[in-house]
Amino acid sequence: QAQKPADKEHPYGHGRAEYIATLIIAILLCVAGIEFIEAAFERISDPQLIEVKWWMVIVLAVTIVLKEITARYAKFLSSKVASGTLHADAWHHRTDAISSLLVVIAMIAGIYGYPAVDGWAGLGVSLFLIYTGFDIARDAVDDLIGKPPTSEEVETIRQIIMKINGVLGVHDITVHSYGQDKFASVHVEIDADKTTAEAHDLAENVETQLMEGLNVAPTVHIDPVYPDNPMVTEVQTFLDDHWINDERITGFHDVRIVDTENHHVILFGIRVRPGLNKSQIIECCNEMKDSITGFPGYEVDIKVSHPYQY
Ligand SMILES: [Zn+2]
Ligand SMILES: [Zn+2]
Repeated sequence: QAQKPADKEHPYGHGRAEYIATLIIAILLCVAGIEFIEAAFERISDPQLIEVKWWMVIVLAVTIVLKEITARYAKFLSSKVASGTLHADAWHHRTDAISSLLVVIAMIAGIYGYPAVDGWAGLGVSLFLIYTGFDIARDAVDDLIGKPPTSEEVETIRQIIMKINGVLGVHDITVHSYGQDKFASVHVEIDADKTTAEAHDLAENVETQLMEGLNVAPTVHIDPVYPDNPMVTEVQTFLDDHWINDERITGFHDVRIVDTENHHVILFGIRVRPGLNKSQIIECCNEMKDSITGFPGYEVDIKVSHPYQY
């Protein structure tokens, strides 16, 4: 289902179907676990005396090894293609292996005259199944609600863009995942003296590089900067000296100076620590504005990045 190409109703493809599939597997694991609990309690209160032969133990031992190999293979595959369903599947095989292992232990215990071990082992398996189910479900739900991109993802995007000639900075990177398909938007800082046509070429170049390098479909927002304006450097130095260690702020970008006849503005963007509320952010911005006193006649305009922009 997840591999199905995009259609009219689902233009982003069906990658997110995988999250739902994973969620269903997780729920099935939990249901199986709950059923096992019941069976286990029955066996604890009423131990069955079955005659166990050593060859049964050997057969089970072989299946355990096979299951574990399958689990490792699925896990290896899931790490290759970052698939939650495969990962859940790997867990499925592993829980099978572990429950078989417990059966073997129970059988051996039975041979030596402890039939109730079977029930306790079953209880262990059930709890393990439920735990695994919850664990996998949590991942799938995170994916469905929307997870932040990994820091490697953000770093790779940044590196690819920074390598392009003419790019002076990157910020506010946003990534949306639809299973294997990813969409992104990025702010790219370029010299303000470039023409619109040049800026467009650069933006197009960024889009191509990201598509080729990461298979990410991006939208590019261009921010004009004045790298040669000494005031930009001054503001940057001021921010680095006075605000870089503030625990509320995680980064600055995009320092610009606007000088028109009746407008004199210092603009820059900041990223704040996740979890700050609106009034804390406003307070932080006001403190910053008040601290910038070295540029009389200039207004200060601070833009705060959204929590999903990196
Ligand atoms: Zn920007
Ligand atoms: Zn275009």
